[in-house]
Amino acid sequence: MYPAELPCAVCDKPARDRVHRGCRDRMADALRELPQLYRDLAEAMLPARRGDGPAVSGTPGRGLPGGDALDLRSRGGIEGVVGGWARDLCERERWEIPQQQSVEAIVDWSCGLLLANLAVICDEHPAVKELADELQQISGQARRVITGEKPPRRIGVTCSCGRTLRVTLDTVGIRCPGCSAQYGHAEALRLPLAERRAA
Ligand SMILES: [Zn+2]
Ligand SMILES: [Zn+2]
Repeated sequence: MYPAELPCAVCDKPARDRVHRGCRDRMADALRELPQLYRDLAEAMLPARRGDGPAVSGTPGRGLPGGDALDLRSRGGIEGVVGGWARDLCERERWEIPQQQSVEAIVDWSCGLLLANLAVICDEHPAVKELADELQQISGQARRVITGEKPPRRIGVTCSCGRTLRVTLDTVGIRCPGCSAQYGHAEALRLPLAERRAA
C-alpha cells in the first residue's frame, strides 16, 4: 500500500514526496541554466549592428533590449533572486556567506549552492514554492530577452467560483484570490476558458 498522497509543496497536485520529482527537476534545470543565461545577457546588451556599417557605440538606444538585459544582469536582477535564496539558506543552516566580488560570481555561487542542496530544500524548506516560482519566472524572463520572444500569452480561465484567472503556459500554479481554490499547472490550464473576444 502506498502512503497517503499529500499535495506537492510546489504544484499542489497529489504527490508521494513533499515535492514531485518533476517539479524538483524543473528547479534544477533553471539553476543549471541561469549562470549561462547571465553570460548570454551580456551579448543581448550589445548594440545591434546594421549591415557592414560600424557598430553603433555608446549607451543602448531606444528599442534595444539593453534595458531588460541590464536589469537582469544588475545587482537585484538574477543576482537578487538566486543570491537572496542562497543567503537565506546559509542563514538557516548557519553557514558562512562568502564575500563575492562580482555579480557574476554571486550568481555562480548561489546557483551552485542551491543546486547542491536542492534535495534538502525540497524536503524541508517552508517557502519552496516561492523559490520554484521565482526560478521559473527569472529564467523565463532571461530566455525571452536573449531570444527576443514576446512574453507568454495570458489566457483567461474561469474558476469554479466564477472569477476569471489569468494564466500562461509558464504558470506553475495559481490560487484564486476569490475563493482560495488552488490549481496546479495542468489543472489551471484545464479550467474552462473565460469569455472569448471576437477577432
Ligand atoms: Zn509538483
Ligand atoms: Zn475561485
